[in-house]
Amino acid sequence: MPETFTSATNGLDDAPFRSRLSFDLDVDICVVGAGLAGLTVALEAARLGASVAVLEGRHVGWNASGHQLGTVMPGFGLPIGELIERVGLEDARELLALSKEGADYVRATATEEAMPGIALTEGALEVSNVDAGDTLISRLQTLSEDFATEVEGWQVDRVRDQLKTGRYFHGIHYPRAFQIDGRKYVHGLAALARRAGARIFEDTPVVSIDPSGIRKRIVTPSARLRASHIVLAGNVHLGATLPRLSETLLPVWRYAALTEPLGERLGEVIAFKGSVADSDGIDHFRIVDGDRLLWASPETTWEARPRRFGPAIQRRIATTFPQLGKVAISDVFGGAVGLTVHGMPQIGQLRKGLWVASGFGRHGLNTSAMAGQVIARSILWGEERWKLFSPFELVWAGGATGRVAGHLIGLWGRGHSAAAGALARYREGARARERVREARLAEANRQAGTRSPARSPAGPRPVRPKPPLPATAPDGGMSPAPSQESEIIRGGSV
Ligand SMILES: Cc1cc2nc3c(=O)[nH]c(=O)nc-3n(C[C@H](O)[C@H](O)[C@H](O)COP(=O)(O)OP(=O)(O)OC[C@H]3O[C@@H](n4cnc5c(N)ncnc54)[C@H](O)[C@@H]3O)c2cc1C
Repeated sequence: MPETFTSATNGLDDAPFRSRLSFDLDVDICVVGAGLAGLTVALEAARLGASVAVLEGRHVGWNASGHQLGTVMPGFGLPIGELIERVGLEDARELLALSKEGADYVRATATEEAMPGIALTEGALEVSNVDAGDTLISRLQTLSEDFATEVEGWQVDRVRDQLKTGRYFHGIHYPRAFQIDGRKYVHGLAALARRAGARIFEDTPVVSIDPSGIRKRIVTPSARLRASHIVLAGNVHLGATLPRLSETLLPVWRYAALTEPLGERLGEVIAFKGSVADSDGIDHFRIVDGDRLLWASPETTWEARPRRFGPAIQRRIATTFPQLGKVAISDVFGGAVGLTVHGMPQIGQLRKGLWVASGFGRHGLNTSAMAGQVIARSILWGEERWKLFSPFELVWAGGATGRVAGHLIGLWGRGHSAAAGALARYREGARARERVREARLAEANRQAGTRSPARSPAGPRPVRPKPPLPATAPDGGMSPAPSQESEIIRGGSV
């Protein structure tokens, strides 16, 4: 693996201080799970003066938190329109403000002084796979007018000036979004939490809890703890600790690849320095180390070896930026994210002293930071902002059937959006060809009119515009795309 990623913990590695827990312990707060969520709770609670123990079954950042792309944006997995429908404009505003606080928290924490090599870069771009300027403009208005979010609308030309591909149309630029080295961040959080006084124990799975009573009991294979508060931040791997909670998350494994250095040609194709995500949530990429691509795309609802997805990511890159051809892949990695049925994270108190911070989905950096702060302050200061999340109850995710359904819906959504993208590109090509044809015809008519005006006293015959291509075929299915697009459509569902 390359420098930046092999040495992810450089300068931050306090692993020697994170041994397995082998003695009984009494603390104020016991946090289960050392991912982004658990570590932020631990850091904030320790800063506020609590005695904190973090119990991690594997090691810090073992799952998604140590394998993410580091893009920090405001907002949640649930689209803003649906959020308003669900809780009303006022609460939606407060929730979005909280999500921005989460992003600000990461910015303030991920400094070069605290986390050397964190490599913060500015700006993120959300691009549309279809020619949907109107939808985008209405989202821009909602975000900037109703939610005071700094956003810019980019026309197709501007998007394509920065990203040399015909696959993307309009874009929303978030100048205040940013990205960091995600792996360094999670290890940096662990180091900061430890320095603030939290104790982190790796290789220490929690096998059961008894949350009744004032002092709650936590059992691990080699020790027992007592704590006034337990924070469950185990995401999809919490398992038997609280099965009813685990069953409210749909695990989705997401995979990403890092390419070998691609040289100057990469900058010629991708000029944008921040991260790029398409509005269908399929591809998410950015340049790292100057000339490598970090690219996330495939997803499964079962655990698979990440290496398997290297070729699929190569194909996505080649389809989006054919100028790059088949790029060499240096590393493929992945982790499981926990999706909730309603799309919002699970943040709050399940019963007195038993807290949950999970379900952050694909949007975990800002939201887990926010959850960490909110829960630490609720426990230690009696704040009640976690109640904003109460409308989003714990909903059963459907068990094994839910996974199959989730997979099929994911495949359908991806296939559907790829088809819509192919159709939009086809229309764009057809419009351009039509313009050329009209110009040629007008020119021919003009010349014919000049040479023999007597034959055509009324001047050139007006060219009748062709009716636009229907969005759907008469039977209600998608219009057939031209043959060169069919590969792209198939490639859409990895
Ligand atoms: C490829 C990929 C790219 C991503 N890119 C981005 C991005 O750019 N921006 C963004 O915002 N988000 C991104 N995400 C999402 C983000 O990584 C997650 O939302 C976030 O890491 C979830 O953090 P967590 O702490 O809830 O869970 P986890 O990272 O899963 O941490 C939970 C920890 O709890 C431990 N645990 C579980 N049960 C127990 C137990 N019983 N006892 C002890 N320990 C236990 C686990 O071992 C694990 O280490 C990405 C995710 C992936 C996979």
